[in-house]
Amino acid sequence: MRKEGYLSTAISKNDAARWKLAIASALVSIILIGCSVESTPSPKESPVPESNMVESENSQRLPTPSAKFSTPWPTNVTAAELTDTALFETYSYFEATRQSNCDAEHIVHLGETISNENKTSIELFVEQTVEIYCEHFRNPVIFISGNNDFVLSTVAENNYPSDEYGGICGYEVPNDANGGCAFYDIAWVGDKWQSPPSNQYAIVAHEIFHIVQYNLDPEPGAQIPGPGHPLFRPVWLIEGAGDYFGRAVASYLGFSSYGREVPRTTNGEFLEVSYLSDLDLLEEWQDRASRGENYFSGQRAMEYIVASKGANSVIELTKKLGSGAKFEKAFEETMDISVTEFYLKFQELYENMYSNGIVDN
Ligand SMILES: [Zn+2]
Repeated sequence: MRKEGYLSTAISKNDAARWKLAIASALVSIILIGCSVESTPSPKESPVPESNMVESENSQRLPTPSAKFSTPWPTNVTAAELTDTALFETYSYFEATRQSNCDAEHIVHLGETISNENKTSIELFVEQTVEIYCEHFRNPVIFISGNNDFVLSTVAENNYPSDEYGGICGYEVPNDANGGCAFYDIAWVGDKWQSPPSNQYAIVAHEIFHIVQYNLDPEPGAQIPGPGHPLFRPVWLIEGAGDYFGRAVASYLGFSSYGREVPRTTNGEFLEVSYLSDLDLLEEWQDRASRGENYFSGQRAMEYIVASKGANSVIELTKKLGSGAKFEKAFEETMDISVTEFYLKFQELYENMYSNGIVDN
């Protein structure tokens, strides 16, 4: 059977109406940072800017790290301590890896539904994101933003690899869908660049991070094989890294502030600590919050890993997976803690961070 799609995200047909409604009621700014076939967006977003960095690229200052992380895996930390330490580590890593003279090729295709002003910003953002991960790309990075008709014509005209629908998401995307997908070396993000573009830049960097993952770990073929598969990769890891680094890049480059989307059920209820801290469960897609739980806790898990072991540890883990190591072995070798111990630490961290038992921020 042919493999479908890839790390994709966008709204499924069934969600199109809900999505439009969400936009119309201005409840949200969209954040379909999902990436998987039939991913469903959560219509509610509660950006929680948690750090106090200056957003201008030229006057960037580092967030203050917490001394609690001088020993890895502390569990009695606040959300701000966790986030600021992770961002400190990540910005420092970006400072070290960014190559302003990067010769990695990137090709940007922007549809006519995008304003010229936005086009200029998008091109700059893609270029700078590629600079950060410059050393990891083996092939030209291809970035597309536009409606689905534009994606289909761009893919066809350039003979890019495509799914059975002629696109790159692995399913039929509504023409006006927002969101994003990544497929091998190609990333797509919808054309909803209305002002302010909210998390749109973070979605771009999220999808480009999937291209980095594919370059370092190509064997899964841009899929997320589940538990039991020889190439098993946890969803919380793949999407959490996409979400965390996507938001961190957009923030680091001064295009948006670092935040998160707190998952809720379709009834608008926040979820319990016991559920959202269960990374074992979140190794596979869950849907009490339409997969928002995988992204949210994946982002938190990534903050915990980066604050404890540095941003490069995530790159090293991905490389180890790419060299053929099983997830559990690669994780323990990179993080100096077993997956089981890490999951327990993460639960303890959540219990301390959300003392009322509900994850509401
Ligand atoms: Zn993704």
